[in-house]
Amino acid sequence: MYTILVHGGAGSIPKEKSEAHLEGVKESVRAGAEVLKSGGSAMDAVETAVKIMEDNPIFNSGTGSVLTFEGEVEMDAAIAYGPNFDFGAVAGVKNIRHPISLARLVMEKTDHVLLAGQGANDFAKLMGFEYHNPITQQRKEQWEKYRQEFMNGNYKDWPKLRELFKAHPEFLHGTVGAVALDSHGETAAATSTGGVFLKLLGRVGDTPIPGAGTYATIEGAASSTGLGEGMMRVLLTKTALDFVRDGLDAQHAAEATINYLDNFVGTDAGIIIVDRNGNVGIHHNTPSMTWAYLKNDMEEIVCGI
Ligand code: ASP
Repeated sequence: MYTILVHGGAGSIPKEKSEAHLEGVKESVRAGAEVLKSGGSAMDAVETAVKIMEDNPIFNSGTGSVLTFEGEVEMDAAIAYGPNFDFGAVAGVKNIRHPISLARLVMEKTDHVLLAGQGANDFAKLMGFEYHNPITQQRKEQWEKYRQEFMNGNYKDWPKLRELFKAHPEFLHGTVGAVALDSHGETAAATSTGGVFLKLLGRVGDTPIPGAGTYATIEGAASSTGLGEGMMRVLLTKTALDFVRDGLDAQHAAEATINYLDNFVGTDAGIIIVDRNGNVGIHHNTPSMTWAYLKNDMEEIVCGI
């Protein structure tokens, strides 16, 4: 028995881009499922699935990540291994192609959980990662437009940024994540993001924080997307897996988690969950979130937006 479920970010996906988003998540699930089908691990499956989306410029992770206020790209990524709560993450890493693979190496090759900034980049160099510029022309144009709109408001007044997010919910979509259960009964989760548009240099979101944007336990695995500042405060994926531990199946846990967030913080968010029985949970309070999944007994990938 195996299951793989991925998301391509919560937010508001324009109609003309929805086909490309759906194709992107399906391609990712297909690659992850190949790993599981041949008896591979959930860890290899979620890393493979996320790498495919990091290479797809339509998503806000790896190549195609959104730009900081200063016009740079700083990426966050995390991977979690359910059987023993292992976790590896990087924050604010620059100019590499696959932040998710670096996060896995933090877990496997160091005694740390999270490396940030220059330290993460030095580690990437040590691990043989080559220089890669993740900035695409399209993101640069978006950055120029949004920055101009922001500057036309009151620069020092940061709540204006929230207003800007409200007017442009597309700021958020595009983070990617994957959760899997493999044929050995092991769970894993992976999430990768460029963060949010116009973030300050050094801003770290929920993605690389254990239990916030990414988490896996023996009961299940979860990956979330949305405005990190709110999700970090309720430890969204930890909350979700607590619901699973307490007896909810993945879908009910996903709904209960987003309701909990709505009740206490009120942030735009979405979550995907796989539980130890191979059930999937998908829920969001944003206009859209792309997702796709495949289980061993299904012929076709199921996807939605
Ligand atoms: N959660 C990500 C962050 O706040 C953004 C996203 O999911 O789109 O960094």
